[in-house]
Amino acid sequence: PFGGGPGMVMMAGPCVRAIRNVKREGSHVIHLSPQGKKLTAAKARALADHSHLILLCGHYEGVDERVIEAEVDEEISIGDYVLTNGCAAAIVLIDALCRFVPGVLGHDEAANADSFEEGIFEGPQYTRPIEFENRVVPPVLRGRNHQEIKKWRHAQALRKTESVRPELLKK
Ligand code: SAM
Repeated sequence: PFGGGPGMVMMAGPCVRAIRNVKREGSHVIHLSPQGKKLTAAKARALADHSHLILLCGHYEGVDERVIEAEVDEEISIGDYVLTNGCAAAIVLIDALCRFVPGVLGHDEAANADSFEEGIFEGPQYTRPIEFENRVVPPVLRGRNHQEIKKWRHAQALRKTESVRPELLKK
């Protein structure tokens, strides 16, 4: 690095050439970086609308700043911690946004019911058997009163969100 310091820096020339080699009309270039805006469900949904994404993954100390200035449309972080490289972050980003591409999930509505879509967690899920190690599926879920089921799920979702992520409720 110019100015000294530990580690290596990815050079501008090869990075810019690599990006330009795959860039086409409508490409959106993302640099995975701890210094980017934090990835959210809303961001993943918005990115799913792009026709072509190019994901730039840094290694070592990262990429020469001029690559970001010249070619990057936005920087995205997957959380407030530092990975050794951007590949795992790219996989997280791809997986999160694929869920909003029509046809990827078994039910297109499934993504709309998941955690964060309404600003809070989704309610708890159960499947057979009704009883497992003395723990029983809540009776309301075994009935057919869909209004009651909806109300119960919403109450459970609020309860867990409040205990684990109270700041989500403030939003
Ligand atoms: N020197 C950089 C800093 O302090 O901001 C950290 C470089 S990190 C060791 C190497 C690469 O991992 C980064 O260029 C980036 O591509 C990727 N990376 C690390 N943490 C990340 C995060 N939280 N989200 C997305 N990418 C991350």
